Amino acid sequence: MANTVIVGMQWGDEGKGKIVDLICPAFDAVARYQGGHNAGHTVRFGDRHFSLRLIPSGILHEGMSCVLGNGMVVAPDAFLGELEELRGAGVDETGRLSVSNRATVLLPLHVALDRARERARGAAAIGTTSRGIGPAYESKVARYGLRMVDLAAPDLEDRIAASLDVVGPQLQAHAAAGRVEEVEAGEASETDPAALADACRAWAERLAPYLADTEHLLNGWIRDGKSLLFEGAQGTLLDVDHGTFPYVTSSSSTAGGAATGTGVPPTAIDGVIGILKAYTTRVGAGPFTTELEDDTGEYLRQRGNEFGTVTGRPRRCGWLDLVAARYAQTLNGVDGIALTKLDVLDELREIKICTGYRLRGEVLHDLPAERAALEDAEPVYDTVPGWQKTTAGALELSDLPPAARDYVARIEDELGAPVLFVSTGPRREETILRHDLPELGRLTSGRLLR
Ligand code: GDP
Repeated sequence: MANTVIVGMQWGDEGKGKIVDLICPAFDAVARYQGGHNAGHTVRFGDRHFSLRLIPSGILHEGMSCVLGNGMVVAPDAFLGELEELRGAGVDETGRLSVSNRATVLLPLHVALDRARERARGAAAIGTTSRGIGPAYESKVARYGLRMVDLAAPDLEDRIAASLDVVGPQLQAHAAAGRVEEVEAGEASETDPAALADACRAWAERLAPYLADTEHLLNGWIRDGKSLLFEGAQGTLLDVDHGTFPYVTSSSSTAGGAATGTGVPPTAIDGVIGILKAYTTRVGAGPFTTELEDDTGEYLRQRGNEFGTVTGRPRRCGWLDLVAARYAQTLNGVDGIALTKLDVLDELREIKICTGYRLRGEVLHDLPAERAALEDAEPVYDTVPGWQKTTAGALELSDLPPAARDYVARIEDELGAPVLFVSTGPRREETILRHDLPELGRLTSGRLLR
């Protein structure tokens, strides 16, 4: 049985949702290991459209267990709201959804602080989703935050006071500078300790059926021979340690985060599938070497429907960046690649692939750490012919036009990993599955059917 991590190899939005949904039936459970309700997956299930933020899309598969790991930050209202939405759509999650007792609680005051800070940064804003993710992670690392288990703890009031001691003065300073005026009264009142304690107790009651020591649950399943899928949110280049700091998310989105974010030891993880979009997109601010601010960029945005799932923000679009993708391969040790949205390139006469960065007269092949270097780097491109034929619905690699096959082969060569899936449209059927490659069977326990 295989325990497999699925990770985005770019800046997120690689189309993970569809691939996770596709390979889910090969697993017994899905665990998310980082992030919060800033991550958005759009999944089509039958003819319905689901936008899932906290709960893994595996919940849409009957009988599949889903876990929100300790590495996540969970906003109780968002979680309960999503649950209601699922139930409204007839999805019964009874007995198969668990939230780690050790996950961090994202409080409304974190949202207020996130928004006020983004506003204070003005033009230098990071472009966060302003959902409180960063401040909630800060509360964990600075050790004053609440974990899920604390919502019903006898010393709840003390813990809330500890949070208010840190966040309260910051919010007051922002308020004095006129930066929290847009925060709704409901959220502002959440800085009242008594109101917060009441809210926490109410959440504790409603969340009780879901809270568990999920590290024991997951490790027990592994001992029982079940197969687990570890689902990363965001993407490699947004990892707090390895990403394009400071324009990153606040958690470990690389494959290594699967171990720390779930309590499953690295030795129990069998492999990694990396999701790579056939071009690059990025949401929010930060360096983006292959960005296209021209008609081609706009074409990719429209054709690829590159607008944020959670925020609706238009995504920045550009050519495939192999410098970033090679770095992602180094960090994640991907065993196989899922190449997505190849169809978006179908009509282009020529396609560019970034093979290096030109910086101060030199060509770099590795992603530089220095922020200024990332900002100043110019892409070095190889131009390859487009295929100008439709790829949608191809079932075998041999169904693809030769130039599209060459594009796939080039990625395999450059990254040193086989492309196991080629996605040519949003629907499940629009996927080439490389059953001819042993890695596909190994990473999915041979349970992925044609
Ligand atoms: P995720 O968070 O990584 O899953 O990315 P998104 O939520 O941004 O999903 C990408 C969007 O593209 C969704 O609307 C998918 O239905 C769609 N999508 C996924 N794969 C493909 C593909 O191969 N081709 C096209 N045209 N759309 C796709």
